[in-house]
Amino acid sequence: MNQHRSTWSIQVGSVASIAIRIHVTFLLLFAYFVYLSPADARLNEALFITAVFGCVLAHELGHALVARYFGIHTNDITLYPFGGIASITSQPAPKAELAIALAGPLVNVLVALLLLPSLDFSHLAAVSQAPPEEALLSFQEKIFIANVSIGLFNLLPALPMDGGRVLRALLALCNSKNATFIAARVSKVLCVLMALGAVLIGQPILLLISFIIFIGAVQEHVRAESRSLAEAFLVEDVMVAKENLETLPHGTTISKALRASFNSLQPLFLVTVGDEPQGVVFREEILEHAATTPDDYISAIVFRDLPAVDARAPLSQALALLEEEQSHVALVTRDGVFAGIASYDRVADFLLMKGVRNHFPPEEETEWPTPP
Ligand SMILES: [Zn+2]
Repeated sequence: MNQHRSTWSIQVGSVASIAIRIHVTFLLLFAYFVYLSPADARLNEALFITAVFGCVLAHELGHALVARYFGIHTNDITLYPFGGIASITSQPAPKAELAIALAGPLVNVLVALLLLPSLDFSHLAAVSQAPPEEALLSFQEKIFIANVSIGLFNLLPALPMDGGRVLRALLALCNSKNATFIAARVSKVLCVLMALGAVLIGQPILLLISFIIFIGAVQEHVRAESRSLAEAFLVEDVMVAKENLETLPHGTTISKALRASFNSLQPLFLVTVGDEPQGVVFREEILEHAATTPDDYISAIVFRDLPAVDARAPLSQALALLEEEQSHVALVTRDGVFAGIASYDRVADFLLMKGVRNHFPPEEETEWPTPP
């Protein structure tokens, strides 16, 4: 089930069983840049962009493979116009986070070192003095500069950049309980300074970048808050117990299921074979198939093989499992026996409300007036 995955990216292959995806905006921008360059330089431009994104991919693979060493799975690597993102499924411990964060820029350092023997430094020095229109760099020189830039830029100590993760990991290793909070603060201050600098020197791209990093830092902070909340609650605090679940036997037709949906506020039904859960069927699926195949049985549209989690496990475990399995729903068991379900939306809602509540001062029990 790929319910959380962006539909705007295309899988182009896989490396070490990690799916490599390219976002559509990247392809559009690629075509645009190649189109903009003079006809005789188009092939070179296309090769250069491909090589740079090869280096970005190698950088992300650096993160993903070191994460694997620490037992953390990477769902996929997606290339965007502003760089790559390796979607690592769980939050690593500080030591692992430090290694994973450093691995990416280290790959760029290695590429730059490999290119070093092929560079002519007197030429590079001459080019740096020349006016921009005469500054002709060779292919290797451009790739060298790109790798040094990617490495340095990612080491900026601002979340969610690698440097920000290094900072957070170091803070956490120094026993700071508020590592993410402090790192996010530092990031926001850095972004404001960068934005001011961008305005002063008239660099709109830098302004945009500081804005994007600022948003990333805020998101990282929110994620860290919900992670620590998810540690504090159990799966049974948020699951829908089986007695409260609306259930359909697997032999129900889609048209019958549609009628059941009319009388229900639930976004999904549990589908059972006898007393055993077979999976779940989503309301959208019922609506979609009711028009075309109303006489089919719902077992044709059931999501089976749902991951299972124990009712007394911390909520964070359920979240990590749902993300890792790319599933919307998990079966909840108590002592190995089916006890209910936990859905991603419900968990996210629950954490959101608990998080919001934490931002309000504790209040005395309010007596709600009884309506007359
Ligand atoms: Zn990185």
